[in-house]
Amino acid sequence: VPDGPISWKKSPCRFCGVGCGLLIGLANGKAVAVKGDPKSPVNKGLCCVKGYHSVMSLYGEDRLTKPLVRKNGRMVETSMEEALDLVADKMKETIAKYGKDSVSLYGSGQWTIPDGYVASKLMKGGIGTNNLEANARLCMASAVTGFISSFGMDEPMGCYDDIDHANVFVLWGNNMAEMHPVLFSRILDNRLKRGNVKVIDLATRTTRTSVAADRSILFKPQGDLAIANAICYEIIQNGWVNRKFVESHCTFKQGKSNIGYGLEDKFKFKDEAKNISFEEFKHFLNDYKPENVEDLTGVSAKDIKYLASLFGDPNKKVMSLWCMGANQHTRGTWINNLIYNIHLLTGKISEPGNGPFSLTGQPSACGTVREVGTLTHKLPHGVVANEKDRKMAAEIWQVPVENIPAKPSYHTVEMFRALDRGDIRFMWIQVTNPLVTMPKLNRYKAATEKEDRFIVVSDVYPTPTTEIADVILPSAMWIEREGMYGNSERRTQHFEQMLEPPGEAMSDTWQLIEVGRRLGYEKLFPWSQETHIEEIWKEYTRFHKGKKHGMASYEVLKDQPGVQWPFVDGKETKWRFNGKYDPACKDGGFDFYGKPEGKAWIWVRPYEAPPESPDNDFPFWLNTGRVLEHWHTGSMTRRVPVLHRAVPHSYVELNPDDATKLNIRTGDKVKLVSRRGEIVLPASVNQRAQPTRGQVFVPFFDEALLINQLTLDAFCPISKQPDYKKCAVRVEKV
Ligand code: SF4
Repeated sequence: VPDGPISWKKSPCRFCGVGCGLLIGLANGKAVAVKGDPKSPVNKGLCCVKGYHSVMSLYGEDRLTKPLVRKNGRMVETSMEEALDLVADKMKETIAKYGKDSVSLYGSGQWTIPDGYVASKLMKGGIGTNNLEANARLCMASAVTGFISSFGMDEPMGCYDDIDHANVFVLWGNNMAEMHPVLFSRILDNRLKRGNVKVIDLATRTTRTSVAADRSILFKPQGDLAIANAICYEIIQNGWVNRKFVESHCTFKQGKSNIGYGLEDKFKFKDEAKNISFEEFKHFLNDYKPENVEDLTGVSAKDIKYLASLFGDPNKKVMSLWCMGANQHTRGTWINNLIYNIHLLTGKISEPGNGPFSLTGQPSACGTVREVGTLTHKLPHGVVANEKDRKMAAEIWQVPVENIPAKPSYHTVEMFRALDRGDIRFMWIQVTNPLVTMPKLNRYKAATEKEDRFIVVSDVYPTPTTEIADVILPSAMWIEREGMYGNSERRTQHFEQMLEPPGEAMSDTWQLIEVGRRLGYEKLFPWSQETHIEEIWKEYTRFHKGKKHGMASYEVLKDQPGVQWPFVDGKETKWRFNGKYDPACKDGGFDFYGKPEGKAWIWVRPYEAPPESPDNDFPFWLNTGRVLEHWHTGSMTRRVPVLHRAVPHSYVELNPDDATKLNIRTGDKVKLVSRRGEIVLPASVNQRAQPTRGQVFVPFFDEALLINQLTLDAFCPISKQPDYKKCAVRVEKV
């Protein structure tokens, strides 16, 4: 209990991509309380259990406070100066020996925007390598490629206000009640206030979302591709196409099919788009008559027709929402395209209450990874392959344009494969825990332990990733430094430094700057420690000028509880591509200006089977994901006693019928085996898994029970995002 008054300061929540506004209570140099910010347009004062306990995650007993370096196989304490010198020396040595593409930086959607900006400037503008990736590749890359292929521009056209206007919510494999709880409360609030609101949970497993929904429709894994096409079939057959909208604002495209799964190293794939007519699109859908896809999808024709009727009803405003269920998918880009197809055919897009809305998982997956562009192929507001974008970056960074390589190098899975092969020899990992999260983990863990590999890890607590590090740098966490996050609805939120970091802990931004300067790039990082975040923001926003991308100034961000871009003439843009709301549109009407002809693309994207399905040897589907109480790998939330007690360890969720057949009860030890590994963990047999037979679910937050030893590193060939939701396992009672 503080002995003085509490002062309150605003910050976005440290955890998920919803981006709730918090008020942090400070007293005696500590964060002592937290509450929802009533002024936040996101959460209007409400938080979830993680948000309410967020400040406690700063004070775990084993916070990393001193740098550690590996000497004779043991980690020993050293000073920050020496540790940073060693990191820079190792980078120099590796570049001299193996070339600049032998060093890599692997970051996160939990990086602040300045962290990501400095990372991009260092790797692409300084060293001159595109070996920069972020863990958001594992959670939203398919959303990005979905947006780019359908609209030519990334990020949702709508915003959270849509939730207050819609009267139908179709959740595509999206357990919002547990993964985006505050937004789900906003949906339920709308239903309570307005009545006649329908929430449809379209999913492969039963969750708290299903219980709260008006209809729970379960489908077979991968069946979503066929369901979406069947909905389009019904929309066309029933004359529910908004012909005027489609003729004026859409164009039809055929992509490649049989596109593989990326299971082999150095997998290459390039999509192509061929113009087709509406009639050809209609003909393609003949394979998706609802009655013909019942077996494939596990969904009755009646339910598919019901779904189609919701989209087709001109009096209903429909929101589709999705996240990992659609993105972590070997056809992730396709399912994103297919959901857009439905909204485009019916013209239910980019107006209050009508909209496809792709949610993100991490607090700055949008702000840092997508907008700054901390991926191999990206630049701030551009891509490396585009000469104009490279020239703009070179001009702002004051580096020769030849410094920025035009060719992307390694996406995340391939970056770890390159480490395994020895093409990469040095990897710096910040704000993420890949030794828990990489699929087919055994291969990539072994890669980090090979001879002549040097791994630097910046983090706030010890994790399985710090265990394999040669250098551990203690990081300042969240409000121990200044920064910005960008959430799912294009909202950028600033937070100031409120606390002193413990010991020698330093922000990730400043760690990168210190190493960059030691590498000889002083001119790239001319900022002072006191004002560097403001100076970085000013430089970064030079990339984002104009009506389509403009960002708010540093001063506005400091003042407001978050600002949505495009920020034009002092105003946020809530709905893009619709001239009623978006000043960038020509002639005040719809204008999908991301595409050269101003038209959105409706794609032919067929059903294709996943790379691995249950068989006699491995008869169950394995699905993995999060739990409400823990943030990702649990490295922070498991240090919060109340959250740890709520869900102290991982488990395998089994359907009661399956459990009875295998003679398994709750608490029994169960061995899960896939073609890649096995683990033993306790069973949880409960109604939550009812009636999803033939599928088990395991959360990934528990570093002692590494479920990713079993998962498959297959990915969507377009987005390169792995599929964590489907592989085949055997279940054995121990
Ligand atoms: Fe934080 Fe997400 Fe919970 Fe909001 S919903 S309080 S952003 S974890």
